Amino acid sequence: MADERTHMGTGLSRRQFLISGATLGFGSRLGALSAQQGQAAGDSRDLALINGRIHTMDANNRVVSQALIRNGRFAAVGNNIARGGNVRTVNLMGKTVIPGIIDAHNHIVLVGNRPGWHTPLEHVFTIPDAIAALKARTAEVRQGEFITTVGPVSAMQFAERRLPNLTELDAVDRPVYMQAAQGGTRTNSQGKAWLEARGVMVAADGAITGPALQLALQTLRKELLTAETRKRTALGALQYYAKLGVTTHRDCGAFHSDEPSGGVASENTYTMHNPFLALHREGKLPARLRIDFLHQDSPTANPPLPTLSQRLRNSFPFFGDDWIRTGGIGEFTGGGVEGLRAIARAGWRGEDHALNLAGVTNLIKNRETVNAEIPITNLHWIISHIPDFPLDLANRAHALGIGVLLGWGPLRNGTNVGPPYRMLMNHPIKKGYHSDGGDITVINPWLNFYTIITGRNLAGQPILGDQTLTRQETLWLATAANKWFIQEDDIGSIEVGNHADLVVLDKDCFTVPDEDLKRMRSLLTVVGGKVVHNEGIL
Ligand SMILES: [Zn+2]
Repeated sequence: MADERTHMGTGLSRRQFLISGATLGFGSRLGALSAQQGQAAGDSRDLALINGRIHTMDANNRVVSQALIRNGRFAAVGNNIARGGNVRTVNLMGKTVIPGIIDAHNHIVLVGNRPGWHTPLEHVFTIPDAIAALKARTAEVRQGEFITTVGPVSAMQFAERRLPNLTELDAVDRPVYMQAAQGGTRTNSQGKAWLEARGVMVAADGAITGPALQLALQTLRKELLTAETRKRTALGALQYYAKLGVTTHRDCGAFHSDEPSGGVASENTYTMHNPFLALHREGKLPARLRIDFLHQDSPTANPPLPTLSQRLRNSFPFFGDDWIRTGGIGEFTGGGVEGLRAIARAGWRGEDHALNLAGVTNLIKNRETVNAEIPITNLHWIISHIPDFPLDLANRAHALGIGVLLGWGPLRNGTNVGPPYRMLMNHPIKKGYHSDGGDITVINPWLNFYTIITGRNLAGQPILGDQTLTRQETLWLATAANKWFIQEDDIGSIEVGNHADLVVLDKDCFTVPDEDLKRMRSLLTVVGGKVVHNEGIL
């Protein structure tokens, strides 16, 4: 069942796809999608990259110097490829190339729906640099409009180990609102005046805490969000992460709220994809989006599984195209064991996250119960985060065909707070990389890679003990290893026939000093042969 469904996404011809879409009443949308596939190639000439250090992440981890892109896919990969006539050739002069990074679980859709002129700050590491980035943003933002950073930013990333305060943010001549995954919430004088006029209490240093915090974010959402601003923010977020090398996001949902919410992880989960779908219709997506559906039915709900049962009856897993496609249920399945049974019966993928040993032990036990009744071993079920995951649980999860997603580290405190990367890397269990960023942590993959490789959090404290990985292993987790988690064989490695998703890096991530890993960025990002980010390479 799972294999058939996997092929539905990639195996149908466009004509079959349009027919099935029209039958289902989505004809116009799919028509627009197929138009975009035509645009995706951009310049219709072939693109040849030569003199690179191209880390293919194929089964032999080949490093080659040349790759040829034709019609959105790799047509040749090697050291002496035939290029033909109608080709644009780029001499990379020794630069490092990796496959496009796949973040196999994050909350990019939440980030794409943030209120105000959302300004990502995951690439700056001091307060003066953050202020400079916010000041630069004013060039695009009219007087009186909010510059915001909500979610994937943290106090720990700054050398000062705190967020900017009101006085510092006053250097930005716009209302500013910064709500961090870690370190609290701050505004400046213009923001304070706006919020206080709406009944939100703000401390003298710009801090917003307690119930005022909920009211602040809810008010910003109520007053500032429109379909147009959401689309602007969604595009900006995808572009920002494309500059950091992320070409595929698997979004793992939000807590559902019908109305604008004060919770950083809450959105209307039935409409929050609209800005991304709109960008898709317009042919503007700079990255691929994979959508999973988060459900939270109570195990004691009556009638049972009120939302999950409707989802499984009325939605399609792996439905869409190469740019946007649905997936499974997660990162919460909801409904306890009965919810797992329903997902297994429907033949869908299911995912839950684990925050501690007791939680993950329970997840495995429940899956063993269900698997004894309805086999799940071929459904690519996932458990993510797993900070504490001893060998016996890895063995049991592996026996169930479960894969685990690793990452989730740069903001953590403590010693040996996992996950046990080294043990899992040496174990046959399926594993991949995820940031889980967007509300409780950062998305920037290089911050996560820094932690996995050095064992240190962003404050430089050792948190992984002896469980670190090599750079090669880390990059593999975030590329080829993640094929299994999105159930697509033709991205994640630079191989003939695969989608041409790649990143030309500004430095060699395999040799830079550890501290420079945090500052890596892309000079050229290509998705399906389409150039989505270019700093003078082309
Ligand atoms: Zn998550």
